[in-house]
Amino acid sequence: MLTTAEALATLLSAASPIDGTESIATLEALNRVLSADVISPLDVPPMHTSAMDGYAIRVADLVDFAAAGNKRLPVSQRIPAGHAPEPLKPGTAARIFTGATVPPGADAIVMQEQTEATGDQVTILHSPQPGEWITAQGADIRSGSVILPAGTRLTPQALGLAASVGCATLAVRRRVKVAVFFTGDELTMPGEPLEPGAIYNSNRFTLCGLLDKLGCDVTDYGIVADKLDATRATLREAAVAHDLILTCGGVSVGEEDHVKPAVEAEGRLSMWQIAMKPGKPLAFGAVRRGAALEEAPASETFFIGLPGNPVSSFATFLLFVRPFILSLAGVQTVAPRMLSLRADFTQSKADRRNEFLRARINPAGGLDLFPNQSSAVLTSTVWGDGLIDNPPNHAISAGETVRFIPFSELLN
Ligand code: AMP
Ligand code: MG
Repeated sequence: MLTTAEALATLLSAASPIDGTESIATLEALNRVLSADVISPLDVPPMHTSAMDGYAIRVADLVDFAAAGNKRLPVSQRIPAGHAPEPLKPGTAARIFTGATVPPGADAIVMQEQTEATGDQVTILHSPQPGEWITAQGADIRSGSVILPAGTRLTPQALGLAASVGCATLAVRRRVKVAVFFTGDELTMPGEPLEPGAIYNSNRFTLCGLLDKLGCDVTDYGIVADKLDATRATLREAAVAHDLILTCGGVSVGEEDHVKPAVEAEGRLSMWQIAMKPGKPLAFGAVRRGAALEEAPASETFFIGLPGNPVSSFATFLLFVRPFILSLAGVQTVAPRMLSLRADFTQSKADRRNEFLRARINPAGGLDLFPNQSSAVLTSTVWGDGLIDNPPNHAISAGETVRFIPFSELLN
């Protein structure tokens, strides 16, 4: 048996970023992965700006402020946002508004609440520090600095940042192409009547949704008949234009199933037993592209076979397939962040395997456990907020701190 960490390390060592980049409009780039650093061509803000409505002054003009407690200055210009100012005449103030350019020569803004305007004069009632209420040019971003490194997955706020330096297009990697199919003679699609012994193909919906959230370009072959020829033909076809073939079902030990012999005939396969619960069986390998048997390894399509139990396929996807696909996509950081949270339950029986328990954050900030942790109970995945990563041979006592991976870290 492999540990979870060993299985993940083996998978990730095989996954190098796919070739192929494109330039796309920044507005369309949500969730895509940058293939090059975004370097700012300008300072942000591009000039010194006022952070308040008020008056731009020169601090040196207030030398006699201390004696009088105020200072009257003529108002020499008015500067709304979006207008270029004149240099500030010595011994005067400029009326200025939030976001407007600070005139050359001014070194502080006095907010209007600390002034009294009379005709074309203003009485300054506060003696400011140099720089007060001025947002300096480049305070957010310096021209020439890397604002988003290659390998960043673009969030809405990253798109905003790129747009703030004027980027209309971004260089991104192409989407990872994934083919997916499902095996099992018991599987029926919703919308069709359920014959005796049959179940609905729920995993198709879960896995396609997960692939979609990762931004993959998905070809869904649906249910493939559990016959060697049909399975081999689907693998051959899928290998041509995809980076990864994902299947679900039929990787348990001793199973009478055609996925394993089909992949072995069309490529290579390792059957893994991972010391985890739910999960355990996982198949990893590759399918040859094209007919030539002796082609270079580069002309292979990765293969991952997930177990069929709904919670097992969900958990193994989140823990193994997600980081694998993100690595193919060129993402820099693929590990989910974990939280340390208090268990508000007791699980007295330790398991020999690394458990991933469906749990929910309660209003007191602790974790409640879903009562049925069977790998067939999909309800637990909807009820839960994430997975407790419980190490092997470890019972959990109430009050103890456990490691929790929120679904928010795993589902995007
Ligand atoms: P297997 O991994 O093929 O041995 O399947 C393990 C269990 O998961 C069996 O109870 C299957 O009926 C069930 N199962 C397999 N594939 C699916 C699927 N696509 N949707 C829902 N349940 C499935
Ligand atoms: Mg099966």
